Amino acid sequence: VIRIRDLDKWYGVFHALKNVSLNIGIGERVVICGPSGSGKSTLLRCMNRLERHESGTIEVSGIELSDDPKALSRVRQETGMVFQQFNLYPHLTVLENCTLAPIWVRKSSRRDAERAAGHYLERVRIADQANKYPHQLSGGQQQRVAIARTLCMTPKVILFDEPTSALDPEMIKEVLDVMVELANDDITMVCVTHEMGFARRVADRVIFMDRGEIVEENEPAAFFERPRSERTRRFLGQVN
Ligand code: ATP
Ligand code: MG
Repeated sequence: VIRIRDLDKWYGVFHALKNVSLNIGIGERVVICGPSGSGKSTLLRCMNRLERHESGTIEVSGIELSDDPKALSRVRQETGMVFQQFNLYPHLTVLENCTLAPIWVRKSSRRDAERAAGHYLERVRIADQANKYPHQLSGGQQQRVAIARTLCMTPKVILFDEPTSALDPEMIKEVLDVMVELANDDITMVCVTHEMGFARRVADRVIFMDRGEIVEENEPAAFFERPRSERTRRFLGQVN
């Protein structure tokens, strides 16, 4: 569902992604890890064109990412994104956060949008908070709302950028539990995270990035037990 070929990305003179190639299949769960500044967020943000790339190609659901606004809007509808900082709309209730895009982008009726939102809020176990505002919720609750909001758009792929990094330890688990459940539902997930336990449990494939390159990728068992590269070994030594 995502096909990346020879991707290069520069921030001015800084070479942020170097010749990255990556295919992600439908239903696949991919975890991306690596040190700070290695280009993980940049790669994820290129996948839905929050960042533009300089060379190489990215296809999402067969649509090549370019400056064509039609292609862009289709890709944005196929890809949901969950951020470290939740990014909920502060002036809208939980329910309104979840129905806004379905109503305005997908042209759903309010009734259908609210019904779907109720369903997904139920799934992230927060339906009882539907009429609250984000600031009235804990970080873990806000992140679960952000996940429900993404699901409401029924994307083909969900991109997670360190979804638990801003959370207190006791809230990390409630968000990871929801993500594990999603993973069991065959949703295509690309997840940047330092939660190696999550990677072991749910990933089909773990990708290790360093200095803008994919250094190593493998299924979790082999990745963790027999890392091939010295850089991967050093990284795993630090996070585990
Ligand atoms: P972290 O684990 O800290 O989130 P990351 O792997 O996600 O790191 P990126 O955010 O992709 O790293 O950044 C990769 C490199 O690109 C970093 O060196 C960063 O300083 C640089 N960079 C990121 N965004 C920009 C920007 N908008 N302008 C200039 N440089 C940037
Ligand atoms: Mg990042």
